[in-house]
Amino acid sequence: MERIDTLLSASWVIPVEPAGQVLAEHAIAVHRGRILAVLPSSEAHDRYAADNDRHLAGHVLLPGLVNAHTHAAMSLFRGMADDLPLEEWLKDHIWPAEQRWVSDTLVRDGTRLACAEMLRGGVTCFNDMYFYPDEAGKAASECGMRATIGLIVVDFPTVWAGDADEYLAKGTQVHDRFRDDPLIRTAFAPHAPYSVSDAPFARVRTLADELDIPVHIHVHETASEVADSVRDHGERPLARLDRLGLLNHRLVAVHMVHLEEAEIERLAQCAASVVHCPESNLKLGNGFCPTEQLRDAGINLALGTDGAASNNDLDLHGEMRTAALLAKGVTGNAVTVNPNIAAQTRKPVVPPDAYLKCHDWNGHTHQDRKN
Ligand SMILES: [Zn+2]
Repeated sequence: MERIDTLLSASWVIPVEPAGQVLAEHAIAVHRGRILAVLPSSEAHDRYAADNDRHLAGHVLLPGLVNAHTHAAMSLFRGMADDLPLEEWLKDHIWPAEQRWVSDTLVRDGTRLACAEMLRGGVTCFNDMYFYPDEAGKAASECGMRATIGLIVVDFPTVWAGDADEYLAKGTQVHDRFRDDPLIRTAFAPHAPYSVSDAPFARVRTLADELDIPVHIHVHETASEVADSVRDHGERPLARLDRLGLLNHRLVAVHMVHLEEAEIERLAQCAASVVHCPESNLKLGNGFCPTEQLRDAGINLALGTDGAASNNDLDLHGEMRTAALLAKGVTGNAVTVNPNIAAQTRKPVVPPDAYLKCHDWNGHTHQDRKN
């Protein structure tokens, strides 16, 4: 008999691999934070003696979900300025509120509240973007959650930093601080093409290469964002990011509501990942990401709730349901986003250097580099 920390047996176990299987009366053997085996419960009790041996009758055990786009601390801004379009919501309400209220304490408390909500809903990992990322990372780690903490960059001064240099300097310090934390990774998080100018983007590109971390950004969220970029820069936001060298396997592009066919091809070619946030897009009246076309192109597609202020919850099960129903309604095809078909015919593309443990449509997760 092998002595281990934990043996969890359940009426059903849904593993990451093999995909699409439900194992009846199985057990998971865990030792020192790692899964040693997934095996029939009857065999498990012959093979392992566990300090913590639990049988979960009538339960399903499944991998933790990954919320691939959050502003966790904004759980404290839930319900603020509902029913407004993005630009007005952001510029007239959220940014002024952040200027007035955001502090290290608010981020710590807000992130802890978000972690509690996400853990209750089966989320064990999230990809965050907010001010005071050091506080967000600390809160996630203390809650036992894995997180990729966004090192935020915007052009304008905030309570976190005064200019691009300071955002980047503080960001790299935060990266160093979590270097040895087994639960926390970092990504650069330039807020959006409309809030970050070319020079900081160029530095983000260089630093992301040097530190070997992803770049997490809102892109093509609204029609006006695209039109304004054409007016101000003579090119669409995605083309601008491409010109600045940011379209590559590091890119985690959030929203991607307004896309042309050539842009989808380019995203697939450069192995970028896209995060679909259907409820945020619906709440702010922005439209919807063409998920079927992205999946057909083989693009790695993940799901996120966005911040609680633009959702108004952090429920990834609800997000899955909305994503499925929305795709069926938009395409007029009830078969679309059918997990069974997806399991048989599609394998999401995972960039070789992917750090994020992304959630795919089958409820399975792709292993990240940290494990
Ligand atoms: Zn967002």
